[in-house]
Amino acid sequence: MNGWVIGSALAMGLVGWLTKWRLTRRWAWYLGTVKTLFPKVCPMCLKPADTVVEEESSQRTTANYVIVRETEWWRAKIPYCTKCERRQSNNIVLGVLLGGACVAAVLFFAPPSEVSTGIIVYILFGYPAYALLATLRKGVVFAGTGSKSFRIKIRNREYLHELAALNTREDATSAEIPLAGNKGVWRH
Ligand SMILES: [Zn+2]
Repeated sequence: MNGWVIGSALAMGLVGWLTKWRLTRRWAWYLGTVKTLFPKVCPMCLKPADTVVEEESSQRTTANYVIVRETEWWRAKIPYCTKCERRQSNNIVLGVLLGGACVAAVLFFAPPSEVSTGIIVYILFGYPAYALLATLRKGVVFAGTGSKSFRIKIRNREYLHELAALNTREDATSAEIPLAGNKGVWRH
């Protein structure tokens, strides 16, 4: 495979990552744990939620042990209203199609010299389109993976208040106090 194909694929992967980062840059955030409960309101429009969307953080491989390599990620079902859930899943389908079209175009104009496992890097050419469309209709995104807690990025400030209030009430022993402005929560 040409070196420049690999180089541009990696660049496109970065563009996709930056797209997602830019879209959620101004969002508020909350420090979540396995105990975090999500309010039954839609994070997009704040109407009562009647369905759920599974949200997943990016994976992280821990190699703390020589033999055991573990892949960790966070996954939770986020309540949404049907209307926003449908918009989001439509966008994801569109993202997959558009991303697939980008991959197909690059494969057509710059086909790999031989079929190998390296062909997988071509998927990165579709990532920016997918990242853009998939994130546009999301109200909650999981960012940053840790083994004890993770960052929940939140589009709507009202939703952050609901989330913080719900979890403070349910989990009074480890109170989380929402900080003023856009600074997440204080844990103690
Ligand atoms: Zn909604």
